[in-house]
Amino acid sequence: MDTQALRSKVGELPAAQLAYRCAVAGRMRAERWGLALDESLRTRTRLVKPRTAGVGRILAYHSIGTDSWGVNDVRPADFERHLQLAADDGWTFTTPDRVLADPAQRQLAITFDDGATSVLDNAVPVLRHHGVPSTMFVVSGWADGGHGAGYEHVLDWAGLGRLEAAGVTLASHSASHPDFGRLTPAEAERELVDSRERLEAMLGHAVDEFAIPFGQSANWTPEAGEIAAKVYGTVYAQAVDTRPANTVPRTFITRIDRPLIFRAALNGAFDDWEEWFLGPR
Ligand SMILES: [Zn+2]
Repeated sequence: MDTQALRSKVGELPAAQLAYRCAVAGRMRAERWGLALDESLRTRTRLVKPRTAGVGRILAYHSIGTDSWGVNDVRPADFERHLQLAADDGWTFTTPDRVLADPAQRQLAITFDDGATSVLDNAVPVLRHHGVPSTMFVVSGWADGGHGAGYEHVLDWAGLGRLEAAGVTLASHSASHPDFGRLTPAEAERELVDSRERLEAMLGHAVDEFAIPFGQSANWTPEAGEIAAKVYGTVYAQAVDTRPANTVPRTFITRIDRPLIFRAALNGAFDDWEEWFLGPR
């Protein structure tokens, strides 16, 4: 059975889906601990310097306290720990454009994907308290009620308005969160254009940034990249060294990222690592 056939089969079987998700999470846990311990040992024993010390990063979070989102969710207490640890290690927080404009600076930008309610509830108060800017990449169709779980975990337009009022920059994360790696160019164009138009109509201002759903190398195509370059000014990946051409790197932060793993991520331990992910079903 090839990968495509396996994915289709798994999609039909609830028990297989559960096993698949457990396997993905288990492998991610093992890989992140392994790479982080390796990075920590090598830097502590001064065999090598941290690979990218002093190089700015854009961090990619999802929800902050939505347990059912699994490895994509970061617990609120861990999120606060991340901010504190970064500050203790000499990082300062700024916007993505300033990280990109001056990559040699030890600067971090915070971004969130998917428009989770828990970001408004649990992350924004902490970010505001410390004066840390952030960006939220919104799935326009989910803000319209099109998420599988309705509005149980994602913000509607009023909630997104509250995010914006709290100083969070809003940008696009597509219309329906598809895997662009499996879309035709016409489908990709519709997702990219519809999302931008809907966001601009509802927010009342221009939206010029886009983050690729799932965000890894297999979730994008050169054709989608060509269309996105015409529709948006900046396209963000969710990978660093392995990201598609003409995208901006982001460092994926996960539920597994206790302080040792988070620090390793800031030092570049996962720059050539990607989540073991076959795409949505
Ligand atoms: Zn997403």
